Order: sequence, then C-alpha cells, then structure tokens
Amino acid sequence: MPMTTLALKYRPRVLADLVGQEASVKALTNALIRAKASGGIHHQAFLFAGVRGTGKTSTARILARALNCADGPTPTPCGVCDPCMASEQPDRNMDIVEIDAASRASVEDARTLREQVQTLPAFCRYRVYIIDEVHMLSRQAFDALLKILEEPPPHAVFVLATTELQDVPDTIKSRVQIFPFRLIPVGLIEARLQSVCKSEGVLAEPSSLRLVAESGQGSMRDALTTLDRVISAGDGSVLESLVREQLGIVPAVRVKGVLDSLLAGESAAILDHCEALTNMGADWANFWKELMLAFMAHLEIGTRAGTQTHEIMRLSRMLNFLLQRERDLRDTSLPQVVAELALITASQLPHLAPLDTLAAIAKAAPTSSPPAVVPRTQEQSRYYNPSPHQRQSVKSDNHHAKSNQPGLSSSSRGSGSVESSGHAPAMATSNPLISKEDLVMQEPKLKQIMDEMSAEIIEIRRDSN
Ligand SMILES: [Zn+2]
Repeated sequence: MPMTTLALKYRPRVLADLVGQEASVKALTNALIRAKASGGIHHQAFLFAGVRGTGKTSTARILARALNCADGPTPTPCGVCDPCMASEQPDRNMDIVEIDAASRASVEDARTLREQVQTLPAFCRYRVYIIDEVHMLSRQAFDALLKILEEPPPHAVFVLATTELQDVPDTIKSRVQIFPFRLIPVGLIEARLQSVCKSEGVLAEPSSLRLVAESGQGSMRDALTTLDRVISAGDGSVLESLVREQLGIVPAVRVKGVLDSLLAGESAAILDHCEALTNMGADWANFWKELMLAFMAHLEIGTRAGTQTHEIMRLSRMLNFLLQRERDLRDTSLPQVVAELALITASQLPHLAPLDTLAAIAKAAPTSSPPAVVPRTQEQSRYYNPSPHQRQSVKSDNHHAKSNQPGLSSSSRGSGSVESSGHAPAMATSNPLISKEDLVMQEPKLKQIMDEMSAEIIEIRRDSN
C-alpha cells in the first residue's frame, strides 16, 4: 500500500504532465518561452478557472517552479536546482505563498497582503502568491487585491484560482490573464489510471478502471482518490465487481436482466428487478445511465447485424422514450415508481408492421383499413385500436392537411416509426427516384394509416407523461 495518496504521488509536476488542458498548457508554455527570451515575465497575474480537481493549484505550483528555476523562466524547469527543490515543499518555501481566500477574507488579511507583497523574495527570482478560491474574498479584500494588481511590484507574481469565475469581480478579471481549466475527458482519466496502476504494480480489470474514471466526473484528483479506495478494498488489485460495490453501481448482470425483460415485454420481471434495485440501495440515476448505454449497445449490435428496419425503429422509439425519462428520475422523490412506470410503458410500446407490409395492405384493401399495428398481446389492445371517434378526427385532420401540407405531418416525422421508410421494396422498385413524401401522397390509404399510427404514438406518449 502506498504511504502517500495516489492523488499526491501522481500530481502533475511539469506542464507536460497536465492531462486534458492542452489550450492552457500551450498558452502558459508560450508565455514562459517569451519570458525566457526577454529575461522576465510580461504578465504578473493569472486566473485559473474551472471545476475542482482539474489541476489549477498544481499548475500554479508548476508555474512558480518554472519562473524560479535557476535556468528559468523556462517551460521545462530542471527539477534539481535549489528553487526547484524548494518548490516541492511549498509550505517551507517562503517564496511560494499559498493563501486560502475562504479563510483569509478579512480587512486585516487584505492589509497584511498589501504590506507583504512589497517584501523582496527570500532567495528566488519571484515571490509567487497563489490565492485559492479567490471568489471567496470579501469586498474589502478584493479592493485591496485590485490595488496590488494595478501596480504589482516587479518581483511578485499572482496566480488566482477559482471554481466560480462568475463570482470574481470584472475589475479583477480585467487585470489578469484568464486560463480555463476544463473537465478532463473520461478517456484521458482512464489512460492515466492505467499508467498509475502499471507504475504501482496493481493488476486492474480494464472495465473497472473505466468505472473509476467515470466516477471522477472530469476530476483527475477525485478519480485517483477513488482508485486509492478501490485498491485498498481489493487488497492490491482492482476488480470490476468490487468497484461497482464500492461505488454503489448496479451489477452489470442486473442491468442486463432489466434490459432483457424490457425487450421481451415482461412487466412482472421488470417489477422484480426494480424491487431488487431498491433493496440494494441502488443509485437510480447511475443505473439509468448504465441501462441506456446497454440499450444503445444492443441497438448498435442489431443495426450492424442487419436487423429489420422496423425492429430497429421500434428499439429506437423505446430508447428515445426512456432517455426522456432521465430528467424525471432526477427530479422525483420516488425514483422506483418513475423507473417502473417508464420501463413498463416502454416495454409495451406496440410492434409496428414494416412499411412494405403496410403498402401491401393499402393496395389490397381500397376501402376498409385493417389496423396498422400488429398486436403482440391482448392487453395492448387500447394502443392499436383507436375508437371510431379518434379515427374520425384523424381523418378530418388529414383532409385539412392535404391541401396545404404535402408530405409527412410534423407529428409523424417525430414518431420515428415511419421515418426510415426508404426501403420499401415493393413500391420503391416501381420508381426508384420517387421521394418518400410523394410515395405517401400517391397512396392516400397509406397516408391515412401513417397518420393514425402517429396519432396513436402521440397518445401513448401522453399516457406515459
Ligand atoms: Zn531548476
């Protein structure tokens, strides 16, 4: 087991170590190259803005070292000269002053700072003031800081860091160079975790590191802290099952179970799974994300394997419906109820007949229209059997729409069920250049059926909302 934390041990020490902040690294590197050429830094105040754990404070320390290295200012400090060595221990180095704005916000502190900045560096080229969470400063402290930044002593460099850029006064912002620190992409965090595990001699299942990386939510520090925890729990190795347990992530086999029940339309099994998820204290938002990813993977496999278009469209409609429930799940105090309702509704979305079948039906039956929707079970009857009143209203709408709106109505575009109808072999072969809209307009029966389908899908959506 490592004595120091991994986050500390693997914190970036040179600009090249910084992961996911290419733009800021490049700009700082260029500033240091210019400073080296001209023998001094042009800007004396920097503001690093971004969410926690993205490398702001680490970069501030790297910058301090880069400015003070005996070879410096340089983007590549030597790491062995006295100032470089001293920068390894900022709390013992008088020329790196780290200030936590949250605890040093008083008028007194502001006055002290103004006096302090006039003092020459103890033994370095610059004295670097790193003010963390600068947005927390009091109004008086900001005023004092502004005065300092208006005329900084030549030996002082200020690095301000904040997670709340909008709370920093514009007067301060106009005096500093702002560097954004972005959320680190999960792939980059994962790669870093892999290299850390390799250096530490830790055996890790690749899938487990992906989960740890995702748990960091863009923060390298948080991901490394989690890695520390799962390595301890796994007694020196990292297993996916253990990571899921540690992070409260639903086991993969359970996600697969829910997906299978969903696709098979097994409502009772869905309820059983939801019950089990509640009993294990699952994080529903997290579970939902995993389910959506598993569903998407299923859809992709089906698409590549050449599954029939109408089945792909059915799956797409289900996935689209479930994706839209994600926000409901976040906003509710009853996540189990929301999840059950959404899953059961999605599992019962009716199977639609493929378009070439519809075309055949339309041609064969000039007057009476059979249902456009092929029933699967008896309990779905209300979805595919609109009442005479509904049929009538759809027809009158059609009549109105025909005169001024050729082609698909906006509602049927949105439904997705008839969108990808370019492969209707029976009809397309008669004139391969005909457009989908023309095709529909030439077959009034077909248009009527499609409009009825759209109306039913809208009805299902209303029901489920
Ligand atoms: Zn050095």
